[in-house]
Formats: sequence, structure tokens, C-alpha cells
Amino acid sequence: MPLIWKIAIGFALGIVAGAVLKDKAQVLAPIGKIFITLLKMLIVPLVFSSLVVGTASLGDPRKLGRIGAKTIVLYLVTTAVAIVIGLVLGNILQPGSGMALSVDTSGFKAPVPPSIVDVLLGIFPDNIAKSLTEANMLQIIVFALFFGVSAVLAGEKGKPVIALMDSVAEAMYKLTGIVMAFAPYGVFALIATTVAKYGLSVLAPFAKVILAVYLGCFLHALLVYSGLIMLVVKKSPLWYFSGVRESTLTAFVTRSSSATLPVTMRVAQENLGVSEGIASFVLPLGATINMDGTALYQGVCALFIAQAYGIPLSMGAQASIILTATLASIGTAGVPGAGLIMLTLVLTAVGLPVEGVALVAGIDAVLDMARTAINVTGDSCVAAVVAKTEGELRDVERSL
Ligand code: ASP
Repeated sequence: MPLIWKIAIGFALGIVAGAVLKDKAQVLAPIGKIFITLLKMLIVPLVFSSLVVGTASLGDPRKLGRIGAKTIVLYLVTTAVAIVIGLVLGNILQPGSGMALSVDTSGFKAPVPPSIVDVLLGIFPDNIAKSLTEANMLQIIVFALFFGVSAVLAGEKGKPVIALMDSVAEAMYKLTGIVMAFAPYGVFALIATTVAKYGLSVLAPFAKVILAVYLGCFLHALLVYSGLIMLVVKKSPLWYFSGVRESTLTAFVTRSSSATLPVTMRVAQENLGVSEGIASFVLPLGATINMDGTALYQGVCALFIAQAYGIPLSMGAQASIILTATLASIGTAGVPGAGLIMLTLVLTAVGLPVEGVALVAGIDAVLDMARTAINVTGDSCVAAVVAKTEGELRDVERSL
């Protein structure tokens, strides 16, 4: 049986187990935790080794620069479109009208987000050993790019280290496959514990905001990703979404773009045919800075909170949400719940009360699942587009 079916069965059984076991489902929590831990274990060696090989294989630093520019532009544009979709839905569905009185925000301490300048300055590593132990993705990317280029410049003497990294990367992809064999159980446990925690009574008052975020994510995938895949990659959306379903599903249950990264890198290469050079650069960068789902969610939530507090938001204020939510989503770490912390930045920028985050905090995990799934799906879409335009997309034989 193909792995994706096993994962789907784990998912479905997890929903049932969560609903039946209720609080007792928490005994399954360690299984989910082990799955996430194993995925995280892969990230640093996989990203570092494959990015060194990828950089070396792309060779020409000018090509690297061009790929970098394309990637960043695509990431920014897709993120801005996601926010617009979020704002449109927030205006149409009015998820926050009549909310404020029903939620108790007393005793809630608003989280403090890191400043955007610090985030940007933090991409340069002063001690690569520290960056590796902290799994600081942007610093690892910067160092691996420098290292890959330098290894090529070192000529004959540089070749062994590239060959070594190639072999490390290969082994890490195999290990990713081994860890994914455990995915059906991990997915089962993660979804069971989530379902057990969030009964209908908890979710019902938030039905509209949940609907806005989920519908927004769906529309974004349908319009933006399908559009890019059809227009640029010249393939059907079905080819794309079935190719990346393992990573979309893993992101949904783990709620972490970072933890999902090894899966994203594997499916982009194996199922979409993206070259290692492109995948190893575009995807780790995307897992760190490209968060379409998070940006969309921040757009929806800003409006939700404004409506809940009865504060009207002018068109100008909504336009400035596009800018701040783009920045906030770039600064959002690819870990569960990070988007909620960065939401405070957006709220402050448009003069909304930061306590507003308390309104969504209780159900944030449910919103996090959808936004993380979209975050990750957006990364591989951009990887496929960049690969296609660079002639780095292989044709892969696979049934849908
Ligand atoms: N959990 C999201 C991610 O890892 C970030 C967020 O909280 O919005 O992509």
C-alpha cells in the first residue's frame, strides 16, 4: 500500500480515536512527539549537506543570484496576494462581529515579538557551530552558500568535501524515507490529541474565523498555486497537489514548516522533479521566510479583532496590514504558534489592542494547521516555478 494511503488511514483513525477517547487520547501524545522529534533531527544535516552540494552543482554565482532574486520576488508576491485574500474574506464574512463580550481576555499577557531588524540582522552567522546547534536556518543557509561556492573555487582540493556532502545528503534522504515510514502512526497520534482537545463546543463560537482562514487557504491554493503551476510549469494542478500531498499533510498535523522541511525537500525532488540545487536553496529559505498561510491568517485575524472590539479599519489601515503582515510573516519562525506571536506586530502597526490575540489564542492550533499546510505547499510551488524557468525541472514518471 502506498505510504500516502497509510498516512490517510492514520489521519482518519486519529479523528475517530480523538473523538472517542477524549481526554484519554493524551496518552498518545508521546507518539506524536517522537515523530516530530525525528523529523527535526533530520533538518540540520540534510539542509547543510544538500545546500553545499546544490550550490556547488549550480556553480556560477551569477546563476545563484538570479535564482535568489526570483525566489524572493515570488515569495513576496504570493504572500501579499494571500493577505489580500484574507482581508477580502474578513470583510465579507465579518467573523468578529458580536464576539468581544463572549471571550474573557483578562489575565492574558500579550507575547512580545522580536523586532524585524533583529530578524534581518540575525541572518549572518558569527559562529557556525552555534548556528548549527540552534538550527538557525537562515544562518545555515548563508554559510552553506558561501561554503559551496568556496569549495568550487578551491578546485581539485575542494572536490572531496563536495563528494562527502553529497554522500551525507544522500544518506539523509534515505533516513527521511525511514522516518516517514513512521508517519502514519505519528499522524494518527497528532490528530487524535488535537481532536480530543478541541471539541465542537470550543470551536463553535469561532466558526466564522475558522471558516475564513480555511476558505482563504483553500482559495489561495486554488487560485495562486494552481495558476502558477498551469501557467509557468505547464502541468495540471492535480499533478502538483498529488505530488506534494505528503508534505502538505505532514505540515497540517505537525504545525511546523521547519519540522516538515525534510519531507518537503524529498517530495519536491522525487515527485515534482525539482533539481537538488533549486530544492536545497528555495525550500529551506521558504520554510523560514515564506508563510502565505500565516500572512493570510494575520489579515483575517486583524479584521476579526477590529470587528470584535468595534474598531473600524479604514482602507488605508487595511493597506498597511498588507505591508506589516508580509514583514511579520517573514519574521515568523516555522514552529507551532509562531504566527500568533507575530500577529501582535500587525495589531500594533494599525493601532489595534494587542490583547486581541487572546481572542484567537484558544483556538490558534486549529488555525495553525491550515496556515502551516499552505505555508509549506507555497514553498514547493515556488521551487517548481523557479526550477522550470531555470531548466532545472526533470520529468518524473509517477501515477497521480
Ligand atoms: N506554524 C507555522 C509554520 O510553521 C507558523 C505560524 O505559526 O504561523 O509554518
